[in-house]
Amino acid sequence: MKILDGNKLSEKYIKIIRQKTAKMKRRPVLAMVLVGDDPASKIYVRRKGVLCEQAGIDSKTIILPENTSQKKLLGAIDKLNKDKNITAIMVQLPLPSHIDKKKIIESVDPKKDADCLHPENLGKFIQEGEGYSIVAPATPLGIIKMLEECKIPIAGKKAVVIGRSNIVGKPMAQFLLSRDATVTVCHRLTKNLAKITREADILVAAVGKKNLVKAPMIKKGAVVIDVGMNRDGKKLLGDVDFENVSKKASYITPVPGGVGPMTIAMLLWNTLELAK
Ligand code: NAD
Repeated sequence: MKILDGNKLSEKYIKIIRQKTAKMKRRPVLAMVLVGDDPASKIYVRRKGVLCEQAGIDSKTIILPENTSQKKLLGAIDKLNKDKNITAIMVQLPLPSHIDKKKIIESVDPKKDADCLHPENLGKFIQEGEGYSIVAPATPLGIIKMLEECKIPIAGKKAVVIGRSNIVGKPMAQFLLSRDATVTVCHRLTKNLAKITREADILVAAVGKKNLVKAPMIKKGAVVIDVGMNRDGKKLLGDVDFENVSKKASYITPVPGGVGPMTIAMLLWNTLELAK
């Protein structure tokens, strides 16, 4: 079994981005909008800021209180859209429940949409694949980069994605499809999940339930990608029972240190692309 080391690969990408930003007349500027006091969101935004610095990207964090009205948030985003110095915008999710996430996502200028969440960008990506939209969804893009780095074949393979969100599951399925895998997408109402996952040469778990994927659900030699981030006290756990699944898998991503760091690296990659 080999570990797909997201920390190491993300460092490589940060270095590539730094080399590219060093040659630019103006450094890209990523604005991050954080609403509320979610401790995990605060950690992610801080981490993104640190990595921006390492990549030669300026960052600006706008922190708004939990009770910020939707109107006020829309106003803040509009200001960033119009600000010529800001080249990319990222609204940290989740948002407080009184705010309509869809409206906020749609309010970001697609030309500054670092997360590839705007329907214009995500629609282009889903229809035509990467290269057609300027940006690509960061988490699945990072996963594809990890698979490619280890020369893991995708074409003709059976891939199973558990989870169908717009940020991970759906675009992940699209990435694998565009590389000629045969893809099955599972979700909360999928019956007999284990029967489906046991067929997978490549299994991506993006659910948010610790230890959902156990060793008997895995084909021997499968490539297992764990996107899940579940807090267990101070510990961060994935969706996969790492200890037992790693004994059967050919490749596996750890949590932490797998998909997470690559997601940030690809967010910065998108920021670079938007600034070009
Ligand atoms: P989401 O809640 O939007 O989607 C979860 C999906 O899981 C849904 O499609 C649902 O149908 C499915 N699901 C729920 N219970 C299931 C079950 N018992 N069996 C099969 N499917 C089930 O979540 P999301 O935003 O896609 O995130 C998923 C997980 O990935 C979360 O833990 C999140 O924190 C994590 N995440 C990590 C990164 C990273 O960079 N590592 C990035 C994004 C999300």
